Parts: sequence; C-alpha cells; structure tokens
Amino acid sequence: MPPKKPQRLGLFGGTFNPIHYGHLRSAEEVAEALDLGQVWFIPAALPPHKSSSYVTSFETRLAMTRLAVGRQSRLAVSDVEGRRPGKSYTIDTLHHFREEFGPQRELYFILGMDSMLEIATWKDYRELFTLSHYVVLDRPGYDQDRLEEILRRQVHPDFQSLPAGEGFQHPSGFRVLVQDTTLLEISGTRIRNLVREGRSIRYLLPERVRRFILKNNLYRHR
Ligand code: ATP
Repeated sequence: MPPKKPQRLGLFGGTFNPIHYGHLRSAEEVAEALDLGQVWFIPAALPPHKSSSYVTSFETRLAMTRLAVGRQSRLAVSDVEGRRPGKSYTIDTLHHFREEFGPQRELYFILGMDSMLEIATWKDYRELFTLSHYVVLDRPGYDQDRLEEILRRQVHPDFQSLPAGEGFQHPSGFRVLVQDTTLLEISGTRIRNLVREGRSIRYLLPERVRRFILKNNLYRHR
C-alpha cells in the first residue's frame, strides 16, 4: 500500500469580534486550494495585540464563531485559547495542535498579510516557523517584496523563494504560502462601527451572527 498522505489541517486564529464573510470565504478558498481536510477557527481569549477593554468577552465571540460555522463539516471551532490562563499566544496553540493531532497531520496556519507583516511582534516568532506552514491571505496594498524582506531580515536569512511567486520556504522545510483569495473589504472594526451608528450589517456576516449581535445588544456603545 502507498504511504498515506498526511492530512492537512488549517488553523485560523483571530479575535473574531465578530467573525464575518471575509474570514469565512478565505477559509473556504484556502481549504479548497490546499486540500485541507479541516479548518479550525481559534478565537483568541486575550489577544496580545488588542486593548482588552474594547474586546467583547471570549464566550460571546466563541458563540458567534460557532453560530457562523454551524454544521459545516470542513470548518470547526476550537476553544483551546479560552482554556489557557493569560494572554493567547499562537506558539502555545501550535504546540497544542501538534500534540493533539501528532505528526500525521500537517498544520497550515492562516493569517492576513497585515498580521504576517507584524510577525516579529509575536511571542517566540522564530520558533513559529519550525512548527507549521503558513498561508498568507494577500490583501491590496501589500507587496510580496516586503514580506520577503521581513522573513529574511527578522525571521531567518535563509528563507528560499518558491517558484511562481508561491511564497517562501524556511530551512526547516516549512513554507510560507501567499494565497490570493476573493478580496472582501470587511473587518470587525467596520461591523462594530456600523452597529454603533445604528446602520445595517446585513450580508457582511452570516445572518445567525447578525441576529445574535442585535439580540444581545452588542457593539452599541464603545
Ligand atoms: P478588527 O477589525 O477587529 O481588527 P478583523 O476583522 O481584521 O478584526 P481579526 O479577527 O482580527 O479580524 O482577524 C483574524 C485574521 O483574519 C487576521 O489574520 C486578519 O488579517 C484576517 N482577516 C481579517 N479580515 C479579513 C478579510 N476581510 N479577508 C481576509 N482576511 C481577513
């Protein structure tokens, strides 16, 4: 029998305050393009980069993420960051998934270009590239040269370019892939602002999440 191909798992971390179609559509397209068996949304309990006083509770963001994913078999939600005390660091989450799923699964951590360009502010960021592949969602206004410069200058000087502008490879063998996805100019900030101004958020996110936001009076005040 030929050796079994390792199943690929996508990990999509974020604040998800709230989750919206920008996240969902990207996850769907990345899963299809890279043949990921599953994509896990992992809401951060205490996002290290955001001022905690403005972030909706973990339980509320987790509930909205679960509502958005529903019974979609390829998408899943992990509460692992809520089960750890203190700030939510990706390095700890990657170690958790490595232990939970073992070497038979390849991990692909999905993040926006804006987040990747700030990777040097993440805890143990050099080690991050020895545990998982990365899928960077290309967004307008960012160029690949900047990504290359940041990876080589701040993470490891021996990152190699992959053919056809696919991305870069770390000496450990893990890759940073740049993925073009449908650009949806939606952000959590925009949705929260619209709610605060009493304006419509319909069609920016799943209807069940929209109803949850209105029913629970989220984002009415700063
Ligand atoms: P906020 O506006 O509150 O900062 P956000 O909508 O940008 O939130 P996050 O939960 O902070 O979302 O982001 C999680 C990840 O999803 C990040 O890596 C971010 O770059 C990416 N992301 C956010 N919005 C989009 C989008 N419209 N399309 C693709 N990726 C996105």
